[in-house]
Amino acid sequence: MALVAIVGRPNVGKSTLFNRLTEERRAIVDDQPGVTRDRLFGTVEWTGRTFDLVDTGGLVPRSAERFDAAIREQVMLTLEEADVILFVVDTLTGISDLDAEVAGLLRRAKQPVIVVANKADNTARALDASEFWGLGFEQMFPLSAVNGTGTGDFLDAVVAAL
Ligand code: GDP
Ligand code: MG
Repeated sequence: MALVAIVGRPNVGKSTLFNRLTEERRAIVDDQPGVTRDRLFGTVEWTGRTFDLVDTGGLVPRSAERFDAAIREQVMLTLEEADVILFVVDTLTGISDLDAEVAGLLRRAKQPVIVVANKADNTARALDASEFWGLGFEQMFPLSAVNGTGTGDFLDAVVAAL
């Protein structure tokens, strides 16, 4: 099955997006009390198409002093393993230095890269997202992983890229 990978710096909403896209399976996961562990792999079904989804943000341990290195590692995994890459950025903060660095690494991707401008919870923020065209990728979708706005058009693009 096709593998779609989520990549991006911390706090842009990768885990939230993962949970939204794999929603219907959330109930059957990890119910051990006291353990809050992000799920990293799931399956998504959309308009009759199915794909595997991985949150690479959780695959590489975060260590404060090797912050950039951890993200670079995420991107390298993504470039090796994924069929489609979801590059998540944050409309509240705009393009950060780290985003620009990730973008530079992803430009070598042979796979389709879809920019996900997350936290576009309302129309004003969706308009703010236009700055992310500046990252230089062909596809960019403003959406809200929290309230679901924009996820339909985005998923149409993901399955079209499989
Ligand atoms: P990660 O580090 O990239 O996995 O980011 P998380 O999924 O842990 O989210 C980081 C923070 O951003 C959390 O406080 C989320 O609630 C918040 N967040 C995620 N998605 C959205 C969104 O669509 N809108 C808003 N307003 N906040 C969001
Ligand atoms: Mg996370």
